[in-house]
Amino acid sequence: MKKNYRILIIDDDPTLLLIAQKKLQTHGYQLLTAATGEQGIADALEKSPDLLLLDYELPDMTGLDVCNILRNQPSYGAKPILFIAGKNDYESIDRAFQAGATDFIIKPLNWPILQYRIQYMLRAHEIQLSLLSSEARLAKAQRLAKLVNWEYNHQEKNFQWSETFKELFEINDYGSQNFNLADFTKRVFPDDLYQLENSIQNLIQRQLPFEIEHRIITDQGLEKVVLHVGHFIKNELNNHCDYIGTLQDITERIQSENKIRSLAYFDSLTGLKNRESFITVLNTALAENKKNHSTSALLFIDLDDFKHINDTLGHDVGDLLLCKISERLKNCVRTAENDQQFAPDNSRKSPSAYSDKVNKLSPLDMSRFDLARLGGDEFTVFLSDIQDNKVAATVSHRLLQALNIPFTLNNHEVFVSFSIGIALFPNDGDNVQQLLKNADVAMYHAKECGKNNFQFYQRSMSDKSLYRLSLESDLRNALSNNELYLVYQPLYQLANDRLIGCEALLRWKRPEKGLLMPEKFIPLAEQTGQILVIGQWLFEQISKILEQWLSADLLNEDFKIAVNVSSLQFHQANIIDKVKSSFVDKSLNQYVTFELTETVMMQNAAQNLTKLNLLSDLHINLSIDDFGTGYSSLSYLHQFPVKSVKIDRSFIIQMENEDLINIVKAIIAMAHGMNIKVVAEGIENQQQLDFLKQLGCDIGQGFFLSEPLSLSEFQTLLQQHRST
Ligand code: C2E
Ligand code: CA
Ligand code: CA
Repeated sequence: MKKNYRILIIDDDPTLLLIAQKKLQTHGYQLLTAATGEQGIADALEKSPDLLLLDYELPDMTGLDVCNILRNQPSYGAKPILFIAGKNDYESIDRAFQAGATDFIIKPLNWPILQYRIQYMLRAHEIQLSLLSSEARLAKAQRLAKLVNWEYNHQEKNFQWSETFKELFEINDYGSQNFNLADFTKRVFPDDLYQLENSIQNLIQRQLPFEIEHRIITDQGLEKVVLHVGHFIKNELNNHCDYIGTLQDITERIQSENKIRSLAYFDSLTGLKNRESFITVLNTALAENKKNHSTSALLFIDLDDFKHINDTLGHDVGDLLLCKISERLKNCVRTAENDQQFAPDNSRKSPSAYSDKVNKLSPLDMSRFDLARLGGDEFTVFLSDIQDNKVAATVSHRLLQALNIPFTLNNHEVFVSFSIGIALFPNDGDNVQQLLKNADVAMYHAKECGKNNFQFYQRSMSDKSLYRLSLESDLRNALSNNELYLVYQPLYQLANDRLIGCEALLRWKRPEKGLLMPEKFIPLAEQTGQILVIGQWLFEQISKILEQWLSADLLNEDFKIAVNVSSLQFHQANIIDKVKSSFVDKSLNQYVTFELTETVMMQNAAQNLTKLNLLSDLHINLSIDDFGTGYSSLSYLHQFPVKSVKIDRSFIIQMENEDLINIVKAIIAMAHGMNIKVVAEGIENQQQLDFLKQLGCDIGQGFFLSEPLSLSEFQTLLQQHRST
């Protein structure tokens, strides 16, 4: 005996108790005794013995009563009760079993047999306990694994389900009724029923196991996905089969798989296909088109000046805009698909069937059109199997029209335009990469043609874009290769022809390729962000030169060097810190003027005002460049801490025009009213100069006065003026 089992004997015969104690203790049992029924019940409940030996006749009640009472106590459980019956008293034996006795033994007691019987009963009880616990464990495990199992007995046509079925189907109350096959199939998603019934039929009639995924609808109306496995067990003895199955709730897994798939294939912002899946679709479509010798078109759509919107309205609004654009594109291409020019073909999927497909993330296959967001503000539309180029032109035209209608974003009305490049298959490329590249090239051409238009790809465009590419990569190294330098165009006080400052202008000398003027590379530098590095370098350069000039005592008190500050540079969040770190010696700042265009100032005016004030606090002078080309309004001028405005060259060129003279006059008058100085740039002849002097313009700049000079040339000029 491994365990020290405790046995409670309830008997009023003191001799029997004594003998029992002796006999059983030698076999390692611990013995408890009680002489009355009442005492016995109390001990049984309190001391929790492993087995009960119960006499039929007790002084206060019968053994049957004791048995009944104990079996109704859940705490006593299913512990074995061995009933001691009188000889031939079959009736009481029968009643004892009904009352829950485990076994019986006849008086007088045969001690060796009793000992074996006790041993057997204890072991049986232990096995029963462990079975119960493993069943409970199984049920728990099933619950955790969201697993339900069923057994089907073909003879009895009877389905047995594990308890967990209620949880799976969210059944609140099913009573003790049997959950039969019909109850189950009623809860299977109708579209999946046929497949399931087929599988079960094949299992039962042809012993074909199955493993399928299908949907169910729970009693609470929820849709779940289960992995359903059906199998059979053959009984070798009677050749009968039992059928078993498991259902596992895999809804969460499917959901996360879908999510992963949608992340991988779809753009999370707009829900459109992303670059990867668009390329997959295109590959399939092109292979198909190749077989059918059909033509298709790839439209590369790029939002004009998206950066401007992001800068002025913020990224959240920018994102919102992209979503609204994609909605509009979707609707637009859909109507285009119904277009007569698509040569309707009824075998094709309807647009709504298509959109369902997109939503359900079904396999990416070929369709009449495909829409994707490649990233940023770039969208693509693929028109498959079109009759001729005209279709692409019509669709592009319609897209541009639809997108030209203003968008309302958080109470802002925003006008946007797009440039579209079109590449045709197979003429402009017979593979995805080539088509994408050439559509992109055509799109750039559309931008160069003034934006808000579409262009078909032409071979000559590629040369241009190759040039652009080489320029872009050369520019990246221009600074480190010392290819950038500054020239200085003098500024004169018109009243007395005094040299009063200069404008620093950027030049790029490319080895073996010659000099490049800023108009050829500044826009590129802005697009690629290079301007930030260049701009910083510029600040440092200016600061160095000023230091030199000051220490050489070349500068008058009111001398100013003007620096052009690009939009991107000014809109940097940390521009003030950048300025501070470049112009370390603050006493130099009074000699510096930042030239900012009106457009730059007016974007996000409130935020700019803070920046402008901070710059002005640093004693940096501010000037509005290209004045008259942007908002053309002086009314806002008083808000900004500006020292001067620079009338754009386009006004000066036409100085003989009466209207323009009046405008220039008005600008000068108003600026002077606000104590702001007026600079005229682009003075090319005596007449213009005279006019401006007459009108009271303060400062002049232009080829007629001086072309931009090299550093040494300008220094010589400074020296001459200093000595005079
Ligand atoms: P901007 O700020 O309007 O600069 C004046 C431009 O007019 C300069 O051209 C100058 O050489 C030119 N100019 C001056 N006088 C005359 C004239 O009498 N007739 C004509 N036809 N032109 C005259 P540039 O140097 O080619 O610069 C062009 C533009 O490039 C500048 O226009 C400015 O917007 C930009 N830029 C130049 N340097 C920088 C720079 O360092 N940083 C930034 N961000 N932009 C720069
Ligand atoms: Ca300028
Ligand atoms: Ca200008």
